[in-house]
Amino acid sequence: MFSYRHAFHAGNHADVLKHFIQVQLHKYMNQKDTAYTYIDTHAGAGVYALDSAQAVRSGEYIDGIGRLWGRDDLPPALAEYVDLVGKLNPSGKLRWYPGSPWVADAEARLEDRLRLFELHPADIRVLAENVRKLEAHHAEQGERARGRRILVEHADGFHGLKALLPPPSRRALVLIDPPYEVKLDYKHVRDALDEALKRFPAGMYAVWYPVLQRMESRQFADRLKRLPAKEWLHVTLSVAGPRADGNGLHSSGMFILNPPYTLEATLRETMPYLVQVLGQDSGATFRIEKGTQVTGTVPALGGPRKPVGNARRASPLSGGGSLRLPGQPFGDDPRPRKEGEGAEGRPRTPRTEAKPTPRGPAKRSGSGRS
Ligand code: SAM
Repeated sequence: MFSYRHAFHAGNHADVLKHFIQVQLHKYMNQKDTAYTYIDTHAGAGVYALDSAQAVRSGEYIDGIGRLWGRDDLPPALAEYVDLVGKLNPSGKLRWYPGSPWVADAEARLEDRLRLFELHPADIRVLAENVRKLEAHHAEQGERARGRRILVEHADGFHGLKALLPPPSRRALVLIDPPYEVKLDYKHVRDALDEALKRFPAGMYAVWYPVLQRMESRQFADRLKRLPAKEWLHVTLSVAGPRADGNGLHSSGMFILNPPYTLEATLRETMPYLVQVLGQDSGATFRIEKGTQVTGTVPALGGPRKPVGNARRASPLSGGGSLRLPGQPFGDDPRPRKEGEGAEGRPRTPRTEAKPTPRGPAKRSGSGRS
């Protein structure tokens, strides 16, 4: 159960996707004066040394944050994220990588609250120590929050989330980022979100997940679309095409329920660059789709399938506004595609997906979470 250590994967392409989006979610939450609660159901260790034995052994960060570090042509959202990583590395040498708790601490305001859950017996100790150092640093700067700004709990984040909703200020940003080592994590995420939306429908919920060939992963996003949230936004980043043996994490996704209305434009602007810079072979690509809840549709008997019940109107951002039905494949279908064919076998329009720009020879994709 405790075999997963994020230290092996810190700063890889999946962390880049997750954390640059996390920065944007905080920036949006910060636009309103009312304080909010940030809940990190799977916090990890908080900060990672990129010269640790684990990080060096996997080398995953080299093809993630390593490829963005020092670039002067970053789109604004990536520049904000890389600046944040830069604050941890003032010498200019990339030695430390911020986990989601550090990102939250850096972006949230003094009046906001951070609630962090971690189960691993070693990582919870590292996390608690990192938070202690952060608080000492804030105190040195004369920044004092009223009450406990950051709480760390050695507990199951799925259960912890339930107990914290609705938050006192009625504003919350939730990050759900389990290891997905066990298939049950997919179900736990769905169940936790279902419950969370009942308790607090207005919350902003962000879920990271690995795009793998296993069934649970392939069906995951379509299942999240059926949750009773008003809106969702879904983005995937593939840095390489799937390998024949099915191993390796080449692709991951972020699924955001009740997303900022500004995020879609930010993703459109940022994802082509990420594909270009992080892409490892001609399978590198991204996909963005969004949807809103459709209510009151009457299911048709026979004939073409129509959305029913909680089905959402989903539009891949091609401008075509096609209707995707629950159970239909999303753009992460591992089947090989013909040149010029989109994820659903339709010709790509230039705005749908980045035309992948292969960058150098194909490389081993990171081992990632599986
Ligand atoms: N969110 C972190 C970040 O972005 O820096 C990375 C988290 S890592 C992918 C997942 C973490 O969840 C691991 O540290 C693991 O020990 C922890 N974990 C696994 N199951 C958990 C559970 N049920 N509740 C809380 N933490 C859990």
